[in-house]
Amino acid sequence: MESIRNYINNQWRQPEFVGEFDVINPATGELIGRTPLSAASEVDAAAQSASAALPAWRRTPAVERIQYLFKLKYLMDEHIDELSRTIVKECGKTFEEAKAEMRRAIENVETACGIPILSQGAISEDIAPGIDEIMIRQPVGVAAAICPFNFPGMIPFWFMPYALACGNTYIVKPSERVPLTMQAIFQLVEQIGLPAGVLNLVNGGREAVDAILEHPAIRAISFVGSTAVAKHVYATGALHGKRVQAQGGAKNPVVVLPDADMEMAVRITADSSFGCAGQRCLATSLAITVGEARHAFNEAICDAAVSRVVGYGLDAGVQMGPVITTLSRERIERLIGEGAAAGAGIPVDGRRTVIRGYEGGSFVRPTILSDLHPDSEVARTEIFGPVLGLMHVATIDEAIALVNSGRYGNQASLFTSSGYAARRFRYEADAGNIGINIGVAAPMAFFPFSGWRESFFGDMHGQGMDAVEFFTQKKVVVERWPKEWSRTF
Ligand code: NAD
Repeated sequence: MESIRNYINNQWRQPEFVGEFDVINPATGELIGRTPLSAASEVDAAAQSASAALPAWRRTPAVERIQYLFKLKYLMDEHIDELSRTIVKECGKTFEEAKAEMRRAIENVETACGIPILSQGAISEDIAPGIDEIMIRQPVGVAAAICPFNFPGMIPFWFMPYALACGNTYIVKPSERVPLTMQAIFQLVEQIGLPAGVLNLVNGGREAVDAILEHPAIRAISFVGSTAVAKHVYATGALHGKRVQAQGGAKNPVVVLPDADMEMAVRITADSSFGCAGQRCLATSLAITVGEARHAFNEAICDAAVSRVVGYGLDAGVQMGPVITTLSRERIERLIGEGAAAGAGIPVDGRRTVIRGYEGGSFVRPTILSDLHPDSEVARTEIFGPVLGLMHVATIDEAIALVNSGRYGNQASLFTSSGYAARRFRYEADAGNIGINIGVAAPMAFFPFSGWRESFFGDMHGQGMDAVEFFTQKKVVVERWPKEWSRTF
């Protein structure tokens, strides 16, 4: 079992903690670590060391700051396989999924290396005769990320590389359920030679989160997780005068029109719904068929669900791993039961799954709920498991109205061969990430990871230029230099 420590001021340390959280390999049920639930004093130590490092880091030219990120990128490339195996062990996804996650993390480091140009300001000469106006971007200060369990390697990188490149100092708080990937990444961070205090790691749960939210030295917070906690983080962080971006939960619909390439729509929707065992904030959890699409789509998606190979993500040929905990499996199975009790059919039922050789794992096979009533709880609640609900409407107007009737707005997708329908959907669907013949519309690192309504609280999103906006504060200077003051000419 690995010992899990904090990394503060370039030192690994055994934290002061208020309790411990068992880290379980969700495929085997084996105990693989114990996360120390850091006390507020650990957050304070990290915030103080980040504050002390800030003045010198801020004065370090951006072209020098990004040299550390280049080193980190190469180390992450070199160690991508072992990092991906760690993700599989603590999070349950397949090795290929974990590797794709790490690739996206690295892509964010690469994008942040463009900071010397991305963080440039602006100047307008002669806003009045002889007077110029300049906009400069300066770092916000000490910032922190509070992360969820489902992408332990990627999500901190939606924020951290941009924060550092813009001249801020930083604290990462991983999910207590998956602390091992960041332990491994900080072992690489240790090798890049950052000045002490610039980048810190604090493990923990709600006590650490509340300490971050209240700490006077922490000026900006990035959160990703469930909507209930996102609202708490957004409200409490704002109350303490901080800049906050908080990404929440999701219930992502896909609309299938009769003119879609049905084979493609089914294959991509199955990957979106059952990839990462449905534990992606961009996973499709509702499929709305329009008109004649119903029969062909429903039959084929059931076949795709049944044929998915479920097992341990490190074993060859496995397409889907377990869900994160047995508690999560119980919750998912309860919601499937409630859906059936509310009138849905279960043409494919993944409950009570046992995988031979992994009897201690928390597996749920792909599940399909048919004829969901739009007002039923299961049609509106985020299940966060490999469960796809089917609905049917007669027209695209009804489909768009249904898409827009949910509380969330993380992603909405459309399958069609009509450019007109695609444009209309893009224009009218109330979601921050739109897929057209795409099942997981995950923005590349140089686009904002959008999200609307109850999927996001704040103004600036993670990644790309939004991250640069979030991690810099603008200063505007208006200046006049009259000729008569000049002694030289
Ligand atoms: P979670 O909300 O349980 O936990 C997220 C973080 O908040 C963790 O670091 C945890 O320690 C902390 N936390 C949990 N409860 C807390 C409390 N009561 N007070 C203070 N802090 C608390 O989320 P999760 O289960 O780890 O992750 C899954 C959720 O994240 C899903 O809802 C998923 O949709 C969402 N998610 C959203 C996005 C997005 O981009 N919108 C991306 C990934 C995951």
